[in-house]
Amino acid sequence: MSFLTFTTRDGTPWTPKYLLSIDDRLCIACGRCFKVCTQGVLKMMGVNEDGERCDPDDEDDDSNRKIMTLANSGACIGCESCRTVCGKKAMVHGPAPELVPA
Ligand code: SF4
Ligand code: SF4
Repeated sequence: MSFLTFTTRDGTPWTPKYLLSIDDRLCIACGRCFKVCTQGVLKMMGVNEDGERCDPDDEDDDSNRKIMTLANSGACIGCESCRTVCGKKAMVHGPAPELVPA
């Protein structure tokens, strides 16, 4: 399978690796990935006792811990900055299949 690949300014091939998932068993909600992402891909969410996700901005939020989530995956540019700063290795990235013109 070939992957979506671009070239850098000097013509070097570059295959972006997009954020695919975040392991919520490893994430400690430190927020470092959120700070470096310029694309609005990530959102901090709460998790309640039943394992349900809750928006911490909601008044009835009953979460007892927080996790980082992939809120807008389509905006990811595959820069991997978030992976670089995640000390818990909670983020999984991968290339996207090459687009085939219709
Ligand atoms: S790979 Fe880059 S654009 Fe995608 S979520 Fe991480 S920091 Fe944001
Ligand atoms: S940097 Fe890693 S541990 Fe910190 S919030 Fe992001 S995914 Fe979670």
